[in-house]
Amino acid sequence: MKTVPEFFGSMVFDDRIMKAKLSSDVYNSLKETIDTGKKLDSSVANAVAIAMRDWAVANGATHFTHWFQPLTGITAEKHDSFISPAPDGRVIMEFSGKELIKGEPDASSFPSGGLRATFEARGYTAWDPTSYAFIKGKTLCIPTAFCSYGGEALDKKTPLLRSMEALNKQALRILKLFGNSDVKHVTTSVGPEQEYFLIDKAMYDKRKDLIFTGRTLFGAKPPKGQELDDHYFGTIKPRVAAYMEELNEELWKLGILAKTEHNEVAPAQHELAPIFTTTNIDTDHNQLTMEIMQKVALKHNLVCLLHEKPFAGVNGSGKHNNWSIATDTGINLLSPGETPYENAQFLLFLVAVIQAVDDYQGLLRMSVATAGNDHRLGANEAPPAVISIFLGDELTEILKAIEADTPYNGVQKKKMKLGVDVLPRFTRDSTDRNRTSPFAFTGNKFEFRMLGSSNSIACANIMLNTAVAESLRQFADRLESADDFDAAMHDLIKETITTHKRIIFNGNGYDDAWIQEATEKRGLLNLRATPEAMAVILEQKNKDLLISHKVMSEAEILSRHEIQLENYCKTIRIEALTMVDMARKEILPAVEAFTSDLASSIASKKAAEPAMLCNYERKLLRKLSSLLDMMDDKVDTLEDAMIHMDSSAGIAAESEAIRDTILPKMCELRAACDEAETLTAERYWPFPTYGDLLFGVR
Ligand code: ADP
Ligand code: MG
Repeated sequence: MKTVPEFFGSMVFDDRIMKAKLSSDVYNSLKETIDTGKKLDSSVANAVAIAMRDWAVANGATHFTHWFQPLTGITAEKHDSFISPAPDGRVIMEFSGKELIKGEPDASSFPSGGLRATFEARGYTAWDPTSYAFIKGKTLCIPTAFCSYGGEALDKKTPLLRSMEALNKQALRILKLFGNSDVKHVTTSVGPEQEYFLIDKAMYDKRKDLIFTGRTLFGAKPPKGQELDDHYFGTIKPRVAAYMEELNEELWKLGILAKTEHNEVAPAQHELAPIFTTTNIDTDHNQLTMEIMQKVALKHNLVCLLHEKPFAGVNGSGKHNNWSIATDTGINLLSPGETPYENAQFLLFLVAVIQAVDDYQGLLRMSVATAGNDHRLGANEAPPAVISIFLGDELTEILKAIEADTPYNGVQKKKMKLGVDVLPRFTRDSTDRNRTSPFAFTGNKFEFRMLGSSNSIACANIMLNTAVAESLRQFADRLESADDFDAAMHDLIKETITTHKRIIFNGNGYDDAWIQEATEKRGLLNLRATPEAMAVILEQKNKDLLISHKVMSEAEILSRHEIQLENYCKTIRIEALTMVDMARKEILPAVEAFTSDLASSIASKKAAEPAMLCNYERKLLRKLSSLLDMMDDKVDTLEDAMIHMDSSAGIAAESEAIRDTILPKMCELRAACDEAETLTAERYWPFPTYGDLLFGVR
């Protein structure tokens, strides 16, 4: 059996393979393209294509695909085989530089939010050489960006790459001011912690809600939930361990740095975290991880649920986006340094992030808004919908001292050359367990915790990178024109703290008092649901940000707004229709069967021996009968509301109507049905219960 280092990355056309299979001219030219974005000439592209094909075919591939990330939030691929007829009736395996660089997958059915009229429906895919090609199954997958005929982005990767470039540009300006001329490139890194649920496939198959919507739409609380905290970090059951083992192997073969695995808080909930890497690569890797998690689960007769809230009453699933900025010389710009000089630079980047999160809290909230994630944010679960930053006590005190020009912690400060007060050496607080903070500094990175488990991490990172690029742009403008750099930087840091300290909060984000303070005293946004969160992207200030940094055009912004809201409306419509279907065809008939058996038993007892009659049966019959009427009534009302939904006033109005009328009616129907479940004998209940689902994997 091969060891992990032997098979790690074996399905990836990575640097090792490139070096081995390409001539040094071709390799150097490709490397330059990867590192600097220089255009690849066609002879190089052809040579790379041939090497890629030979490697892929030798590893069992028969097809290739341009692998891309349309606005559906998942990945797309259309396979073409390598075969090409030879004159003697045989086939040869062909793949050209042209096919590597550009594809025309047609793909006109992907949402474009009005960016493509049907007559120009073709979209193009363009190779992203910064993310390695890989083999999945029997297909060589080439990571690509997906654009319209007119060059507008139809995917998540294009704006992500643009946002990384925006941040690179501005960060380099700042570094130059500090005299860091050896740095050529600045990139952002991400390590996303991915939560998920695993349930038994046979039980999953019996629930239409899970099949159609990925979450349970009904289900009374089981006697046991997560209150004992006995699942968190608990021993991993053999069936789950076997799953994790195979999952890791599959991910490692694809060069994905799967590192940590453990049981999460809710029963049946688990987490997988990779070692962080460059943001766009990790975005690809996270998409692949989610896909492979689901595939491997099926092999173990399990289903992996990536929905943000598969079960009411226990924790939902999120994705913690650990984020930092690093130079090509290996310096993490969010790491407090060893010297005062490094610390001044660190402080500047730190306050740039603080300003960015405060100024663009709406965009960050928007970037994680989906119907599924609404069940976490703003509901009774961490993190809250209000964005704030956790810095930890020590760093907060340091910023306070800088703002007030007072000594920190009794340490008399000295002014150093660069004009910023000398920071005392402080211990890196990597023990942050304030799980309620949506945006936490954890020693040398920020952890954005609002992402939903099924979200592509692209959106959040697009907004985060661009917002920070904007802070850095403002800082660089100011510092570049300053006569006295030292004094200017000191004032800038101080001022930024004063202006943006309202976003810093180290307390408990669950607390109602905090939400009140945040919104009333500090004026922070509390965007609880997707319709109001999506509206933010249309605000002039936010459009200006994205357009001025060339991350999205006006048309791209409008299209994303429309697609996200459409997705919200469709998701909830499917959920409502599924509820109506399950209630009418499964729940009502089950409860009816139980009540009619109860009634027959009452009737037969009455006929045989009236003394046998007891209160229990009659009481239950009365209760369930009235619940039957109530459920029936609620189903009708929900269905009626769906039929009479007015969608003529535009997608924004429709999403608000769905939020305000359909969702509450769904809750009412669920409440009635869940009550009926608690009163109905188990053998009548038509599908697996919460107890079965949450504790069914043994
Ligand atoms: P925890 O949050 O559970 O304490 P860690 O902080 O060690 O765990 O790591 C969580 C994730 O953060 C991992 O995916 C890790 O690779 C990632 N991470 C660590 N350092 C950085 C960094 N500088 N930039 C981005 N991600 C990082
Ligand atoms: Mg973490």
